[in-house]
Amino acid sequence: MGIFGGTFDPIHHGHLVIAEQVADVLGLECVIFVPGGVPPHKDFASVKAPVEDRYAMVEAAVKGNGRFVVDRVEVDAGRAMYSVETVPLVKERYEGEEWFFVSGADEVSNLLSWRDPDGFLAEARMVAATRPGYDISNLDHLAAELKNFDRIVPVECTRVDISATTIRQMVADGKSVRYLVPEAVHEIIHDRGLYGAGDGVAVDARG
Ligand code: ATP
Repeated sequence: MGIFGGTFDPIHHGHLVIAEQVADVLGLECVIFVPGGVPPHKDFASVKAPVEDRYAMVEAAVKGNGRFVVDRVEVDAGRAMYSVETVPLVKERYEGEEWFFVSGADEVSNLLSWRDPDGFLAEARMVAATRPGYDISNLDHLAAELKNFDRIVPVECTRVDISATTIRQMVADGKSVRYLVPEAVHEIIHDRGLYGAGDGVAVDARG
């Protein structure tokens, strides 16, 4: 079983590619996407879309993939949650023997800033999916500090150089983000006017 936590502000094809490829490589039955409230390590002002809109975009993005589901545990908590709290709650809600927490290489490098990283790694093995711009060939700083360092699992994925920050900026600048996100997510961004979409600038052929 895989748990994929993130802000998903918005979800994009970089997220979907690692979820699919990690599921394949590790033989996961299911990847549970857990869109978060405001994560403790992110600046509140950096999260731009309301949590229900981010949840709706994840739901739309995973539709049609039989291995992917979305969970509301962090949405309904109504507060910031640490992964060490979230993972046991998710594990109670689904049947599963072996648990992996899916994340990109940038998150893994930052693991020492997380709450109770060894406790977190005891709950789930952490997948370090390749991400352009982040090198995890040297994780000595983690190996020196963490008892459960051997529970970090690097997984080589197709590199997709997309970040949510770039997408938000492009939308705000009136540029098209079509094909960077699933079509259904693109529609939600424009229908709900997220990230400044439609603020007086023609963003795509629909105007
Ligand atoms: P932001 O730009 O706002 O920081 P993000 O694109 O990193 O957002 P998050 O929702 O914060 O998206 O990411 C959730 C998880 O997905 C993290 O573990 C992150 O490392 C991983 N991830 C995001 N984009 C990619 C990508 N293009 N390739 C590999 N992993 C990614």
